[in-house]
Amino acid sequence: MTDTSSGKGLSFVRRIYRPRIIGKAIGLIAAAAAVAPLQQPHWVWLLMLFNGLAWPHVAYHWARRSARPYQAELRNLQLDSVAAGFWAATMHFNPLPSLTILSMVTMNNVAAGGKPMVIRGMLAQLAGMLLSMALLGPGLQLHTSMAQVYASLPMLTLYPLALGWVCYQLAIQLADHKRQLSTLSRTDSLTGLLNHGSWKDLLQHKFQLSQQQQLPAVIALIDIDHFKAINDTYGHVVGDCVLRQLSHELQRSLREHDKAGRYGGDEFCLIFPDTHEAQACQAMERLRERVAAYRNPQLPGLRISLSIGLAAFRPGLASAEDWLLVADKALYSAKHQGRDQVNLARGEASTLRLAYPE
Ligand code: GH3
Ligand code: MG
Repeated sequence: MTDTSSGKGLSFVRRIYRPRIIGKAIGLIAAAAAVAPLQQPHWVWLLMLFNGLAWPHVAYHWARRSARPYQAELRNLQLDSVAAGFWAATMHFNPLPSLTILSMVTMNNVAAGGKPMVIRGMLAQLAGMLLSMALLGPGLQLHTSMAQVYASLPMLTLYPLALGWVCYQLAIQLADHKRQLSTLSRTDSLTGLLNHGSWKDLLQHKFQLSQQQQLPAVIALIDIDHFKAINDTYGHVVGDCVLRQLSHELQRSLREHDKAGRYGGDEFCLIFPDTHEAQACQAMERLRERVAAYRNPQLPGLRISLSIGLAAFRPGLASAEDWLLVADKALYSAKHQGRDQVNLARGEASTLRLAYPE
């Protein structure tokens, strides 16, 4: 993880806040039971209460107010490791509670920063142990009493649950972001339709399906007539609005399984699965009429007309590209025959379109 923005740092700080409250509170039970028989000075108990109950809130606000919350939270995790080492030595390395506290803190470090964080955390634990031994003297207590076993159980059971829950929430969030990114990468930003690449992937898929199952399907290429003149007369902002308006009209007129994309510039593309050519022609004729009838009171002179080329799937087509070429030829003919019309291809692809006739 890197500190790319304070927003990301803040979410990291927030994510750690609740598990730390739980972990420190139940860690306090384990530590208190282990330190109680050792006659440690009063300040040790005050420090233990502060660390168990107040530290999570201090750490949270300290990191939140920092200019770099992510770095501040890493520092707080280091201090958690120092504290864990300190308590392990202060309880004279009583096996169960000290190992529980040290391993829970190490689990935190793995989750927060992987191997580097674990290594730094272990050094911090060692520093905490040395600090305790310097202040309170060394000691060894290799027997864990039954009471101390029970006092360690909440930490052993509840803390992994809390951390597991946080990791699960994070995984869900990541999966959601992945879905959003994947949708964005397939979407045309101006119109919200499929972009060129993803529409062509879909065409490939539908072509194979039609070939295998001999299902009828039709594709359409739609081009706005003299769109350059619309841009030149009314400006590109109006041109963009026209493109968006057309994409709305397209989405309104499609059935659930029909798929529309923006092929590029002022050209749109459609796939009608399970559709016969007559049905597709009717749908496109209705679209052409609706768009031709479109009027904008603020731009009374604005007229939009469409040329549309249609190609039905035929078993003789060699590839999806050939199918597209047939639709492209039909569009070329629609332009050639005077624009503002729907044209259904009757033959196979033979020549590439180079330019529309004026
Ligand atoms: P034709 O009837 O032969 O299709 O003529 P046309 O003017 O529509 O064709 P041409 O390909 O010459 O012009 C398309 C124009 O679309 C040119 C380009 O500036 C414009 N264009 C392409 N993408 C966008 C866009 O995202 N927004 C806007 N406003 N214009 C765009
Ligand atoms: Mg055009």
